[in-house]
Amino acid sequence: MFRRVHEEIMEACCKCRVVGLSAEDMRDLYKVDDSYQNTYIVTHDKNEQSYSCECKLFGRQGFLCSHIFFVLKNTDIKVIPSKYTESRWMKTSLVRAVHGYVPDSLQHISVVDEKQILSNELTTMFYGCLGRYQCNTDRLLDFATGMKDLCNSLKSGTTPTSALDKRRMVEDFYGMARPELVEVHPPEVVKTKGSCSSKGSRIISQREKAIREFNKPLRKCVTCQELGHHDSRKCARVKAKEKKNAKGKEKC
Ligand SMILES: [Zn+2]
Ligand SMILES: [Zn+2]
Repeated sequence: MFRRVHEEIMEACCKCRVVGLSAEDMRDLYKVDDSYQNTYIVTHDKNEQSYSCECKLFGRQGFLCSHIFFVLKNTDIKVIPSKYTESRWMKTSLVRAVHGYVPDSLQHISVVDEKQILSNELTTMFYGCLGRYQCNTDRLLDFATGMKDLCNSLKSGTTPTSALDKRRMVEDFYGMARPELVEVHPPEVVKTKGSCSSKGSRIISQREKAIREFNKPLRKCVTCQELGHHDSRKCARVKAKEKKNAKGKEKC
């Protein structure tokens, strides 16, 4: 039954439209077009606050048709008038019709438990969100992701953390509050040419070393008494090297 009424309400929200409106004394007549290309006249009696539709679904089935739901929506009625819900689907009205009175025990049955109220609220919230965000894919995706997260956390038994809790956890971890304004500076310029060292030191090639050595003024070695680029400390090593080089040249 819930599904059937829900279908009528969805039909009223999405498919129905008013094609004509007229008023007679205290009665408003709405011409309502539905998705089956049918046009029915819904009469709204302002004195009795009653609604009737030409399709007579209420008379046949006992629940309101999409046309009346549409008019209810247009006249800003948030709660379905009790006379349209009590007629057929509640024990009290049946008992009243048969016995002429309602026993006390039945009257107290209408006190619904908290679980029922909560589940009704959830159903309303869910379908409300679904109806509101149906046209927006991004919002619908957010809604679905949120629902999935909630389902997973409920399944695993952990309590879902709200955005505020998460923020507090992160702030506790870092030991400081999140700044309202985050300033981002451009990164330091990186050298892409030459040596990447910023100290100015670089590897000097053998050739460059030799040129620099050649340009130095000559000095006299105390050991061999020659003018050259070495002193008495390096004399033996330099002479040995020169000999080796000379031998290598002779061999060639
Ligand atoms: Zn109708
Ligand atoms: Zn020397």
